[in-house]
Amino acid sequence: MLIFERSKAGRGTDVIKDLDVEEYKLSQDFLRKEEARLPEVAETDVSRHYSDLAKKTRGVNDGIYPLGSCTMKYNPRLNEAVASMKQFSQIHPLQSEDTTQGELEVMYLAQKYLCDIAGMDQFTLQPAAGAHGEFCGLLTIKSYHEKRGDVKRDKILIPDSAHGTNPASATMAGYKVIEVKSDKYGNVDIEDLKRVCGDDTAGLMLTNPNTVGIFDENIEEITEIIHSCGGLCYYDGANLNAIVGQVKPGDMGFDVVHLNLHKTFSTPHGGGGPGSGPVGCKKELEEFLPGFVIEKEDDKYHFVKEDSSFGELTGFYGNFAVVLRALVYILSNGKDGLKKVSQNAVLNANYMRHLLEDTYDIAFDRTCMHEFIINAERLKNETGISAMDIAKGLIDRGIHPPTMYFPLTVEEALMIEPTETESKESLDNTVNAFKEIFEEAHTNPQKLHDAPITTVVGRLDEVEAARNPIVRYTFPED
Ligand SMILES: *Cc1c(COP(=O)(O)O)cnc(C)c1O
Repeated sequence: MLIFERSKAGRGTDVIKDLDVEEYKLSQDFLRKEEARLPEVAETDVSRHYSDLAKKTRGVNDGIYPLGSCTMKYNPRLNEAVASMKQFSQIHPLQSEDTTQGELEVMYLAQKYLCDIAGMDQFTLQPAAGAHGEFCGLLTIKSYHEKRGDVKRDKILIPDSAHGTNPASATMAGYKVIEVKSDKYGNVDIEDLKRVCGDDTAGLMLTNPNTVGIFDENIEEITEIIHSCGGLCYYDGANLNAIVGQVKPGDMGFDVVHLNLHKTFSTPHGGGGPGSGPVGCKKELEEFLPGFVIEKEDDKYHFVKEDSSFGELTGFYGNFAVVLRALVYILSNGKDGLKKVSQNAVLNANYMRHLLEDTYDIAFDRTCMHEFIINAERLKNETGISAMDIAKGLIDRGIHPPTMYFPLTVEEALMIEPTETESKESLDNTVNAFKEIFEEAHTNPQKLHDAPITTVVGRLDEVEAARNPIVRYTFPED
């Protein structure tokens, strides 16, 4: 029920008291021509309305949310408690350095730990999401080539197993995208890479683990090939929870990297935010980073911006509260804790993959990293049950569907990332649901075609919803 449908003319609340200061008269130019049609509801109605909405939504707190590539894991409440401390939440971005030394220290420490984790020399905290970080990293690479007068490099090489945002970001940064093929093991096809790498290569963007959940076995050879052509290597580290504490992109030959703090370093995210995609780079590229970095001098923290910086990506300093949550997460886990994060992320994915491999076809059936992919093509051919039907069947079993129909290189793909914060019982329960659905596909497929039946709405026309979204209420009298 919408809040407008709860509205009763004349009902209201007296939470907002009568005006006890002189009324300020706005100019007619700024006033509405007619009264806004706001819902008229009592405080009880509002409270129940939001409670109702909260019950209809689904999040990590309701159960496993194995949305591949998105790392929908449990977010420790400690992060939230610290982020909402008034010393952090009640500051203004225009306050002076003197009065915000604590906040500057948070950013300084975050830069420092991220450098250590990623094997980089400097980090900018400005980018507000992963894709924003990619754009930032590419502009950093572009600035580097431009400063050296190496302007014919107008191509970025991107494997077909990259995250979809990679080619989009490269195009936005003004580059031509050259796709590099994968071999049958899911790695970058080295021969194809050698063929396309040349003196017009600005760089390579590598998603690792790639979108099929695989750590590229030839990663050092890949970065060597790119460097020998004069290009730079960009590491899409959005899914760092697969490798954090085990290996560093910088040690594998990468020059620039972005990390998704809202994934690996935990911030409740989804539905578009909030995020933070800091970008790290090696010494030679530092001077081009956007915005401000924090430096420490005589026990005081300062904002510093190089003249050669390519500019600004956001107002002020990025999503400070997400950076703060990440710092709390890093400090509370410590070095050993972060190692366990990646160990458990990889263990959980392999545990599920192993239990499901006798039932479903697994794409690239080898040890995976933090996620794996079911290929439901054969099931669809044999029973008519598609990846979509499986996903809908999961909803009726209280499980959020995995990522569907991505990556595009796998037919009828379901990409499953259990994350490191699920217990064995939760993984077993999910595996059982998948198995039950497989069984049902053969015995009662219609039931899956009809799913979900336990939700407020059933099958939605997803094309219609995307093409003609209804985002405003139509009053019955209109
Ligand atoms: C999530 C993700 C991105 C994009 O991050 P956003 O914060 O959603 O912009 C990029 N690359 C990979 C590999 C990802 O998993």
